[in-house]
Amino acid sequence: MTASFTTDVIIIGAGPVGLFAVFQCGMLGMRCHVVDSLEAIGGQCTALYPEKPIYDIPGFAMVTGADLITRLEDQARPFKPTYHLNQQATVLTHHADQSLTLSTSTGTQITACAIIIAAGAGAFGPNKPPLQNLNDYEGTSVFYMVKSRAHFSGKKIVIAGGGDSAVDWALSLSDIAEKISVVHRRDNFKAAPDSVIKLKSLAVAGKIDLIIPYQLHALSGADGQLTAVTVRDLDGGEKTITADILLPFFGLTPQLGPLNDWNLNIHNFSIPVDAATMRTQDNALFAIGDVAQYPGKLKLILTGFAEAAIAAHNAHALVFPGKEIHFIHSTTKGVP
Ligand code: FAD
Repeated sequence: MTASFTTDVIIIGAGPVGLFAVFQCGMLGMRCHVVDSLEAIGGQCTALYPEKPIYDIPGFAMVTGADLITRLEDQARPFKPTYHLNQQATVLTHHADQSLTLSTSTGTQITACAIIIAAGAGAFGPNKPPLQNLNDYEGTSVFYMVKSRAHFSGKKIVIAGGGDSAVDWALSLSDIAEKISVVHRRDNFKAAPDSVIKLKSLAVAGKIDLIIPYQLHALSGADGQLTAVTVRDLDGGEKTITADILLPFFGLTPQLGPLNDWNLNIHNFSIPVDAATMRTQDNALFAIGDVAQYPGKLKLILTGFAEAAIAAHNAHALVFPGKEIHFIHSTTKGVP
């Protein structure tokens, strides 16, 4: 059965900027439904660097990606947003009364007066290793994201890749896993130099096995439970590593996908907007955060926060036609 909803504003993307847009819309009396293709809120902060420190969020000398998202979720909570996760915004329908209906990849339909697109660089999907029986183990023994460290406590883990995610998670899980093996096809890691130094010193101390230069070759196990990962070097030499868990970190590929068909003049993953209103060439659609493009654009979280405020103020006229906004500071207005 198709789930149908009606709201004031639909926000596409539950990254930091989309979450702050919920707050800004809420302060102006507008209810929001938020759609994201990922299984968790937080966009790049959650998917790419949850444990990394961010230093340029106003008011925080330092906050990790994950903590920033927790705080944004807390800030949005009083406005009771509805999250539709694990589903991609796909089809947009305009109605004669100026309202819009968004359909998602799972069949959810949401009708609203305005849409704020905070889609970052698009819907993320993991780059998967070309292993024959990979999907037998996905979600049980093979994971592309770490949602909870505790889930990996006491496990024998193979981490594949040489970028920040692979190295950061090897460091982070090394004190709770039974064994960590890092498989990389060359000795040269792309991760932050400090992290690579830490990784190599844990390898020298015998806490992490570095399996270099090898690539994933085959998985063994039964009923979704992995027992071993076979790796191969360039000369065809093989090694078999006993393992319960495989974490392949080969990056996420962002795709604006269906949004490309919405007649928004998208170029290079960016939607042109009028910076004074954050309005796209479609009167009822606004774009903010990394996906929005205008002269002088800075792709930073703090820029996206300001854009969220601008978009919410301009969406207000579509949600409450003829009703003027009497600007009141949050100190005076408070939150529900
Ligand atoms: P995103 O965080 O990209 O979120 C967009 C969301 O939209 C995603 O969850 C995606 O799944 C979803 N989505 C897209 N299309 C669809 C669709 N069709 N349907 C459903 N969902 C969709 N910025 C800083 O300001 N300071 C820093 O120190 C900093 N450090 C960084 C470090 C790293 C390693 C990286 C990768 C980025 C860093 N950034 C930093 C950049 C910052 O993360 C981005 O500017 C920020 O995440 C943009 O937020 P956003 O909400 O616009 O988009």
